[in-house]
Amino acid sequence: MALFSVFSRSVIAEPRVRMRQVMRWAARVTHDVQRFWPHAQAVIPNYLQLSPSLGAGEVALVGSGPGGVELLTMAAFQMLNQADVVVYDRLVSDEILQLIPANIDTVCVGKAASFHSVPQSRINEILIERAQRGQRVVRLKGGDSFIFGRGGEELEQLAKAGVIFRVIPGITAASGCTSYAGIPLTHRDYAQAVTFVTGHCQHNGQPPDWHSLVASNHTLVVYMGRLSATSIQQALLAQGMSEQMPVAVIENGTRSDQRIFSGTLIQLAKLAEHAASPALLVVGEVVRLHQTLDWFNTAAQKIPQATQLSQFDN
Ligand code: SAH
Repeated sequence: MALFSVFSRSVIAEPRVRMRQVMRWAARVTHDVQRFWPHAQAVIPNYLQLSPSLGAGEVALVGSGPGGVELLTMAAFQMLNQADVVVYDRLVSDEILQLIPANIDTVCVGKAASFHSVPQSRINEILIERAQRGQRVVRLKGGDSFIFGRGGEELEQLAKAGVIFRVIPGITAASGCTSYAGIPLTHRDYAQAVTFVTGHCQHNGQPPDWHSLVASNHTLVVYMGRLSATSIQQALLAQGMSEQMPVAVIENGTRSDQRIFSGTLIQLAKLAEHAASPALLVVGEVVRLHQTLDWFNTAAQKIPQATQLSQFDN
């Protein structure tokens, strides 16, 4: 009874905790049933079973979002519970990996900006081989697979090999991390446009066209920009952006260990030096709003229920 009241208070007080709890609960039920009944199909409540079931020989390209477990979509959760194998990247958070039922085969093909553990061609082969064996394959990526995620390239290879596939979108880092940092990407007073750009341009060696990105009333979000923050800072200054333009570096956005380093453009390289991976750079007047609208880091420090809930959980 006491436990129930702690739980119900937490559930009412904190929707983020509530979703996290529901997903952990569903994952645990699935895990327990499959331990005793290894051939069980997905054991997920009907109300979570929203997409057509994953078929034999089919690949689901699934975006897992930026890391916070509550940001996984229901469709993604369903796919994870119906897979025979999950092929995942390093960017997928541990919390989300823990939702994968224990009897499902997992293959890590981890990728980081300066480190590719499995070449892209081999990843394509793994997906095709597994699907052609008749397995139900989930290809799990961080954020959204179609935003700097090479999802398109992988699907082109599957299409060529005649493998059936579907795509489950995820919340991309630009959207998730800025929301959890209290930085609206657009705002009528500060930004009428937003651009997502990569700071890591190894493909054809061409840097982005910074000139076209230094517009007023515009938010710039740089993925994979932490290691090249010095040259990004120089390029933006060289194109006439003010030294005082607000910037933020969001490390581990949406995760419990999220950290935000904010300052102005002249400090960008220094701020990025302090941040660990994954980190997202945000440049634009909207960053000013972080001071007033930061809610997640503030909430994380203020929620005693979260601790109580984890006691209940274990
Ligand atoms: N497909 C992904 C992006 C992959 S590129 C998406 O849609 O989000 C990898 C880059 O994404 C990282 O270098 C970082 O810049 C950004 N990123 C992804 N998750 C992040 C997180 N939780 N916090 C901060 N940056 C993140």
